[in-house]
Amino acid sequence: MCLENCEYDFIIIGGGSAGGVVANRLSENPKWKILLLEDGDTGDGLMNIPTLAFAFQGTRFDWQYRTEKQPDMSLGIEENQMPYPRGRVLGGSSGINYMMYVRGSKDDFNKWGEKNPG
Ligand SMILES: Cc1cc2nc3c(=O)[nH]c(=O)nc-3n(C[C@H](O)[C@H](O)[C@H](O)COP(=O)(O)OP(=O)(O)OC[C@H]3O[C@@H](n4cnc5c(N)ncnc54)[C@H](O)[C@@H]3O)c2cc1C
Repeated sequence: MCLENCEYDFIIIGGGSAGGVVANRLSENPKWKILLLEDGDTGDGLMNIPTLAFAFQGTRFDWQYRTEKQPDMSLGIEENQMPYPRGRVLGGSSGINYMMYVRGSKDDFNKWGEKNPG
């Protein structure tokens, strides 16, 4: 571990789902020095239990964002705002998510392809 006058080939800000994958793939090249920075801490073992995901929302493992006020909504929300959970922990939102397998929509990928040909 480097603590002084460190130089890196890559610095990744955010050790969430994407940052972790990028750091892992880059580390396949042993010549590269990679720094992965995460604002949150290392988490809690109970995060491995998908049905407990809700228990970490609103805690220090969550950025505790709230939506903008929604004038025409009332059901289940306080002061016209809803919590908007995002993980603040190593692993990011995957640390507070439900671990459901969600396959991307074919139509979405095709639309992106049409907008960005080549
Ligand atoms: C409650 C909830 C339930 C979900 N359920 C599912 C599910 O069941 N199945 C599924 O497929 N997807 C689910 N998702 C979505 C999935 O978790 C996210 O799409 C995915 O984790 C996003 O990855 P990401 O890398 O873009 O962001 P994140 O994983 O959120 O990573 C961003 C990271 O960056 C860090 N960060 C931010 N700012 C800074 C900074 N300035 N310095 C350092 N670090 C910083 C954050 O702390 C965080 O760790 C869920 C999400 C939530 C919130």
